[in-house]
Amino acid sequence: MTHIFHRSPLTPPKLAARGQSNYLIDASGRRYYDGSGGAAVSCLGHGHPEVIDAMIEQLRKLEYAHTSFFSSEPAERLADTLVRQSPAGLGHVYFLSSGSEAVEAALKMARQYHVERGERTRRHTIGRLQSYHGNTLGALAIGGHQGRRALYQPLLVESHHVSPCFARHYRLAGETDDAYGTRLAQELEQTILALGPETVSAFIAETVVGATAGAVCAVPGYFEKIRRVCDRHGVLLILDEVMCGLGRTGAYHAFQREGVEPDLLCLAKGLGGGYQPIAAVMAQEKIVDAIVSGSGAFQHGHTYIGHPVACAAALAVQNIIERDGLVRRSAQLGETLHRLLRDRFGGHPHVGDIRGRGLFQAIELVARREPDTPFDPDLRLHALIKREALARGLACYPGGGTMDGVRGDHVLLAPPFLATQAE
Ligand code: PLP
Repeated sequence: MTHIFHRSPLTPPKLAARGQSNYLIDASGRRYYDGSGGAAVSCLGHGHPEVIDAMIEQLRKLEYAHTSFFSSEPAERLADTLVRQSPAGLGHVYFLSSGSEAVEAALKMARQYHVERGERTRRHTIGRLQSYHGNTLGALAIGGHQGRRALYQPLLVESHHVSPCFARHYRLAGETDDAYGTRLAQELEQTILALGPETVSAFIAETVVGATAGAVCAVPGYFEKIRRVCDRHGVLLILDEVMCGLGRTGAYHAFQREGVEPDLLCLAKGLGGGYQPIAAVMAQEKIVDAIVSGSGAFQHGHTYIGHPVACAAALAVQNIIERDGLVRRSAQLGETLHRLLRDRFGGHPHVGDIRGRGLFQAIELVARREPDTPFDPDLRLHALIKREALARGLACYPGGGTMDGVRGDHVLLAPPFLATQAE
C-alpha cells in the first residue's frame, strides 16, 4: 500500500503523468481518451496554453491575498463575466473552491436571507431522492445518494426529500409529462405544507441530474411548476449546476432551457475546467440586498475562496468558452454524439436508454429490454465498466446500481467541448 490513502486502497488508481488535449497519459505512456472530463470537469481538455499562461501571469503578479483583507482583479473580472452572461437578476457571485462548498454556502445564504427578513423559523431544506450535492455533511444530508449517505447517516442534519423527476422509471403508465410534472409539484407542495411553510427555507435540485442517475432531464414544465410552488410558499429555489452548468448541456446555464430562474445557483466543475479548484454561488439581487441591508455580512469565509490564481484560470476558461462559441459547439457536438450513440448502441440488447443534452449524455444499461429489467446491483457493474473501459483506453463515468438507490446502471459521457467529430 502506498502512503497516500486512496479512495479505494485495495484497487489503487493508475498514475496520470500527463494531459494532452483530450487525452490523459499514464506513467507507462498509455493514452486514455477523456470521455467524461473526470466527472464533467475538463471542459477544455488538458494543457490549454492560454489557461496555463493566464495562471502563470497571475502567479507572477499575486499568488494569494486573504479575502477578509483584499479582493483581486481576476476575482472581480470573473464575477463580472459570470454576471454579464447570466439573466439579469443573478447579479452577485460568491466564490468557493468546490461544488460541495458551493452547496453549503447556498444553503446558508438561503437561511440567512429569511432570518434577515425576520423569518427566523425557516430552517428546513428539501432535496430530491437520487440526487447528489456533495460530500461535506450539509451537502450530503440534502443529497439523495444512498450509497454515500448510509455510513454517515448519524452525522447528517435533518433533511427532507421528495421524488426525483425521472420519467423513464417513475412516470405512470398513461400519465402525460404534464400530469407527471403536476404530480411531482403537488408532492413538493404537500411536503412543504406538512412541514409548515413558515419553517421551509429552500428546495434544491440538480437541473439535469448527473452522477446518481446519468444525464436525466426533467419533463417539460416540471421546473416551472416547482418554481410556482416555491413562490407560493416563500421557499427559495436553489439549482445545483455544479456538474451540468456553464455550457455542458449546450446552454450556458441548464436552467435557461427550463423557463425558470433560480434564487441561488451553484457552479463548479466547468468553471475552472480542472485547471484550478474553484466554485461559485450566484445569487439574485434580493438575497444579497437582504443580507447587505440587514446584518451586513455573510459569515461563510474559507481561507481559499476567491483565490487569485483559481480566478485567473477560471476567467481564462470562461473567456475561451465565450470567444470560441463553445456553448454552441457543446450543443452541436452533443447532438452528433447522441445520434452516434443511438445509431451504434440503440439496438443493443443491454441498452435501455440513451439520453442527455449537449455534451452531457448517458447510456442506461439493462439486463433485459423486454420486460425492462435492471442488472443485479450486486454485480457492481459500474466498477466493471470503469475497469474495462480504461483497459480499452477510455476514461468514462459509470454509476448507478446499489450506489444510488437508482433503478439501473448508466455510463455518463461528458467529453471536452473541444472534442472533435472524429473522436
Ligand atoms: N453537486 C453536484 C451536482 C455534483 O455533481 C457534485 C460532484 O460531483 C457536487 C455537487 C460536489 O462537488 P465537489 O465534488 O466539487 O465537492
